[in-house]
Amino acid sequence: MPPAAMAPALSGDAASHTVAKARRAWTARFRAAGIDSPELDARLLVGHALGLDHAALAASATRILVASEESAIAALGNRRLAHEPVARIVGTKEFWSLNLRIDAATLVPRPETETVVEAALAAIDTCRGRARALRIADLGTGSGAILLALLSELHNAFGVGTDLSPQALAVAHDNTRRLGLTRAAYVACDMAAALHGPFDVIVSNPPYIGSDNIAALPPEVRLFDPRLALDGGADGLNSYRAIAAIAPGLLAANGVIVVEIGAGQAEAVAALLAGAGLAPSPPRPDLNNMPRALVAKKGS
Ligand code: GLN
Repeated sequence: MPPAAMAPALSGDAASHTVAKARRAWTARFRAAGIDSPELDARLLVGHALGLDHAALAASATRILVASEESAIAALGNRRLAHEPVARIVGTKEFWSLNLRIDAATLVPRPETETVVEAALAAIDTCRGRARALRIADLGTGSGAILLALLSELHNAFGVGTDLSPQALAVAHDNTRRLGLTRAAYVACDMAAALHGPFDVIVSNPPYIGSDNIAALPPEVRLFDPRLALDGGADGLNSYRAIAAIAPGLLAANGVIVVEIGAGQAEAVAALLAGAGLAPSPPRPDLNNMPRALVAKKGS
C-alpha cells in the first residue's frame, strides 16, 4: 500500500492513542462522571496500567499505545467510573509516608486518620517520651495503618493490632513485613477481647458511622469500604461504649488512649471516656479543622 494511503488512518489512530491522549480522555470521562480529582486519578490509573511511575509516564507522553495497553487502561478506568477508589484499584495507599497494601477487608486509610497518629505522638512527647519501650495496642487495626505509623516513629515500642477480620490481619501482617517493622503482632478478636494489658498507648479508628447514615455516604465509601469497618450501630457510638468499658483495665498507670471520632461525636465520646474514669483532652482537629482525634489519660 502506498504510504500516502496509510497516512491519514495512521495519524488519526496515533493522535487518539498516545499516552497523553489516553490521560486526557480518561480525565474528561472522570470529570463528566463527577469524580473529585479527575486528572490525578487518570494519571495514576494510566500509570498503573502501564507500569510507569509519574516521571516515566510524563516522559512517555507521545508514545503510541498498543491495543493491549489500551484495554488494560480501559479496564481500570471503567472501575473508577463505577466509583471504586483509586487506592482499591491499585491496591495500595500512602499513609504517614508509608506505602500500605490494602484489600477488600480493610478501610482505605484516610489522610485525616494521620491526626490520630499526631495526637498519640504529641501525648507521648508530653508525658512519656518517644525513646521508651512503649506497649501499644491498636484496636481494629485494618491494614495496620495507625500502628505501623507509630512504630515507624517509636523505635523502641512494641505493638499489637487486633481486628475481627483475619483477612484484614493478613494485610496488616504483610504491610508489617514489607516495611521491615518487626515489633508488631496481630490477634484476631473483637476490639481487645483477647488482649491482656497493661498498655501505655491504646489507639483506635473504630467503626463510627450510624447504621442509617451509611446509605448517604459517597459511593466510594458505601460500596467499597467494608461495612464492618464503618458501622458503629444505631447512633454510631457502639465501639466507643465498648472501648470505654475496657480501656481503664487495659491501660497502664499514666497510659493514654487516642480514638478517631466522626462528625459531631466529640462531646459524646469524651463523656463516655470521662464516665469510665479517664481524663479527656479537647479534641485535636484534622486538616479540615474538624475535631478528629480524642485523647484521654488514665491517672497514676
Ligand atoms: N472516616 C470514615 C468515613 O468518613 C469512617 C471510618 C470509620 O467508621 N472509622 O467514611
